[in-house]
Amino acid sequence: MNHAAVLLLPAVIVAAAQEPAPVLAQTRTPEGKAILLRLQFRKGLSVEGKALPRAFLTKAADVSGWVSFENLSPQGKRWALAALFPEDQWRQEEVRHRVGHPDVESVWTMAALFTGHGQNYDRLMVENPDLPEKLREGDVWRIPRSLLSADLGGTGKRPDRSQPEDELDDEARVAAYRGMLSFGEDGQGKYAAYRLRKGEALYSSVVIRYTDRVDPKGVNELADLIAKRSGITDVRGIQPGQVVKIPVNFLADPFQSEGSSGLAEEREVRAEVRRTVRVEAGPMLKGVRIILDAGHGGVDPGARANGLWEADFVYDITMRVRRLLEQETEAQVSSTIRYPGLGFKSREAIRTPSHAAEILTNPPFAVDGESPSAVSVHLRWVLANDLFAAFRKTQGDAQKTLFLSFHADSLHPSARGSMIYVPGAALVPSTFALGGARTGLVAEVRRSGRVTFTGREKLQGEARSRQFSEALLKALRKDSIPIHANRPIRNVIYRGHGKWVPAVIRYSTGATKALIEVANLTNEDDAANLRDPDFRERYAAAVVNAIRAYYRK
Ligand SMILES: [Zn+2]
Repeated sequence: MNHAAVLLLPAVIVAAAQEPAPVLAQTRTPEGKAILLRLQFRKGLSVEGKALPRAFLTKAADVSGWVSFENLSPQGKRWALAALFPEDQWRQEEVRHRVGHPDVESVWTMAALFTGHGQNYDRLMVENPDLPEKLREGDVWRIPRSLLSADLGGTGKRPDRSQPEDELDDEARVAAYRGMLSFGEDGQGKYAAYRLRKGEALYSSVVIRYTDRVDPKGVNELADLIAKRSGITDVRGIQPGQVVKIPVNFLADPFQSEGSSGLAEEREVRAEVRRTVRVEAGPMLKGVRIILDAGHGGVDPGARANGLWEADFVYDITMRVRRLLEQETEAQVSSTIRYPGLGFKSREAIRTPSHAAEILTNPPFAVDGESPSAVSVHLRWVLANDLFAAFRKTQGDAQKTLFLSFHADSLHPSARGSMIYVPGAALVPSTFALGGARTGLVAEVRRSGRVTFTGREKLQGEARSRQFSEALLKALRKDSIPIHANRPIRNVIYRGHGKWVPAVIRYSTGATKALIEVANLTNEDDAANLRDPDFRERYAAAVVNAIRAYYRK
């Protein structure tokens, strides 16, 4: 290549605390104009637009700011890659890519740039069996012509554009996090090593991100264990660069080592997400059946912290979602629970806990402590499934059924923002029947108290629910509503020594189902948000926007 050598500038853009600073490189266009390239963790490559020649751009490209790699023409892409990675060798049969910025690059990024889609990262790894997934400076990765994108002169298949990459941000994020681990073994067994970056804490950047623990006790205990295992004596005095060893049996599925069943299940679900074609209902949500569930209520106030209690606040958000859906769409909406003194209304100020609540079965079931609260939890999914069954019986489209349960949690205080639980396919049973004398009178239990799921249904359930969760995160982000910093979509709850999927979504026959933890009550900023009726309204509006976005192909 004949352009000026790449000059690495100190990073001037401040990245989010947990992310490495972007790499900035200065180069020249063929006309000799100076231009900046920027490589960002997870976000990939972009080029300063102002001086780019027309021939380097696709028709759609907007040149007022940074032009993303996707909006460069084949010629522009070739040029940008050569400028950013001057030591790469472009051969007839393959590209040999030398890793220059291991902090920012990942196998996902490499796959996105060279093959046209990050989802090819596993194929790239197969082509380079001797190289670790955690990139090292100077490693040379082979990208065979058969994987290279058509834009770059390869014969790689065009990526499946039914799922644009930005809608799979969770998969990219998880792949990037995975790329920051390296696996090893010592006298104490197998571990995944992670090197702490500046500003990172063991709690949030290791335990909450890489394991399934989020509750305060579980996070603290595991942080202590990992510290000890890593030879750290003072958790408060950890320096950047410290290598932390996470015993492999504590890793969440996406971070398990190659060949493990957890990782295989994770990949199967991701593949299902990609295969699953969205259901189209149009902006008015015509023909969509939605059941809204507000967690807890009655004698059960739910989680408590910072002067707030979960039940009334999530009930209020749920009622706002209900009102917006009724006002603005043609979706058919029902609730599982009602506070008799309040009806389906929302409130500006929430001063004291409501003590009465009933599940809307026939007859209604008062959540008054007469029966264990487990009964009221089960009646929610039973009622919802019964309503879905009635909907299907009247020619309703089974694919257009959505169940949403609203909660707020009390997690480790370092965590904040929304987190969404989807039903992990591996933890949904093939059959379950609700028994017990106390539920015998409820008509819905007799009709719908028993569920069965095929393997295919479990997989589809998780995949669709993940797609919805992506749409929800996008809508929340768009309105600057805080989202959990580390893996905001989870498919399992882990407490003590058990792991499970919450019953309301585990047994739901809705095609799409999610349990939304709107905020972490233990976090003061989150609590202040929940107290604010404007925030609750914004939250509800974002949920409705997400539902609308989800039902557009
Ligand atoms: Zn809850």
